[in-house]
Amino acid sequence: MSGPLKLRDPETLRLPLEAAVQCMRCGFCLAACPTYQVTGLETQSPRGRIHLVRSAAEGWLDPAAILPALDLCIGCRACEPACPAGVPYGQILEASRAELEPRRPRPWLEGVAWRVVLRGLLGRPWGLRLSRWLYRLYRALGLQGLIRRTGVLERLLPPLGELEASLPSPERADGPARGKAPLGNGPRVAFFSGCVQAIALDHVNQAAIRVLEAAGCQVLIPPGQGCCGAVHAHLGDREAALAQARRNIEVFEQVEADWIVNVAGGCGAALKEYPDWLAGDPQWAERAQAFASRCRDFTELVDQLPLPELGPFEAAVTYQDSCHLRNVQGVVDPPRRLLRRVPGLRYVELPGAAQCCGAGGVYTLTQPAMSRELLDAKMAQVAQVGASVLAVANTPCHLQLLMGARRLAQGRVGGAPATAPVQVLHIAEILDRAIQAGARGAG
Ligand code: SF4
Ligand code: SF4
Repeated sequence: MSGPLKLRDPETLRLPLEAAVQCMRCGFCLAACPTYQVTGLETQSPRGRIHLVRSAAEGWLDPAAILPALDLCIGCRACEPACPAGVPYGQILEASRAELEPRRPRPWLEGVAWRVVLRGLLGRPWGLRLSRWLYRLYRALGLQGLIRRTGVLERLLPPLGELEASLPSPERADGPARGKAPLGNGPRVAFFSGCVQAIALDHVNQAAIRVLEAAGCQVLIPPGQGCCGAVHAHLGDREAALAQARRNIEVFEQVEADWIVNVAGGCGAALKEYPDWLAGDPQWAERAQAFASRCRDFTELVDQLPLPELGPFEAAVTYQDSCHLRNVQGVVDPPRRLLRRVPGLRYVELPGAAQCCGAGGVYTLTQPAMSRELLDAKMAQVAQVGASVLAVANTPCHLQLLMGARRLAQGRVGGAPATAPVQVLHIAEILDRAIQAGARGAG
């Protein structure tokens, strides 16, 4: 851990000045920014944050002073498509965090804990296997039930406790095993499982694989793959993020596949940005390009494939965009088109679907007040459109909105009318159920 942050010492800092000076301060991005919408503060807007980074880079401002503004940024990147000058806000944010994070005064134990989680449990294939095993053990031993019954975690660590209490129940999480469909002669798909996705929402991965197989794909799950590195990049651990990128590129180079597919908008955005991450590394830049050119979001690929006959999925369904799927990957229509293909499903567009739900990786835990405010506003909109199912396409959104559905059912969302419980399902789960219903109808 380095010493305290220095004032007006620009030569010791490598803040992204070149990118920051591209901002012409027009303010077109303000309306898109959720933290500006809530606070009304310039310092909590994209324009304000870029100006703070620039001022610190030029030595006019103590870099410590800009940390609170960067911390409250969700990293949703809604400001990027809104910007007429093409300012690379995501790069500015991640480069600034990578530069300032090691200088942040932090209690020693907290620093160690973050390191264990980021570099150990989420940073290594063995760490992911261990996390998955520990999570299963936690449920199998009945600790999850005990913690939920007593509400002890919600009292001691409210943000974490609320998140834990909203995780899918063991029955759902255990779901049916992967599909038994014969090998199709469609595209060969290498499946990227993710980290938290594979630990807490593995049933979604299994549903996605069944759908891909039903659509004729040959699905492989390359062993040795790890976390995409997005969480490391968001939290300023650039070195660990790049290590994840190199590992994943290497692993997926070993398999012959037409596409590399994942179900999490945030992970997919990181995988597609590996060429930017590794642009300065002559050994890896070309390999990163080749890797990223094969990456597709699940909805992006399945939208292009013929599906077997779908059975009815009788429900009013609305869809919350994943910020990184929409703002970074530019995937807007495929999830909606897929939902509209399902018979019986009544699709209702969610007003403000493009605005962040407040998930943002670990933002739910690190900025609980802002995160809950955005979540409650989102759930009030869901209640208003009268949907019984909320479709999602990203891991943190999925967990966050499960928590939102629980808050809604408990009457804790201010201003929302009383509603029947809302189910939160990934689009892959909805398609999987419709395919199974279609097969039952045909049989
Ligand atoms: S990433 Fe999201 S929260 Fe951060 S400045 Fe841009 S729009 Fe605002
Ligand atoms: S829209 Fe772009 S150029 Fe305009 S203030 Fe925002 S970041 Fe700067």
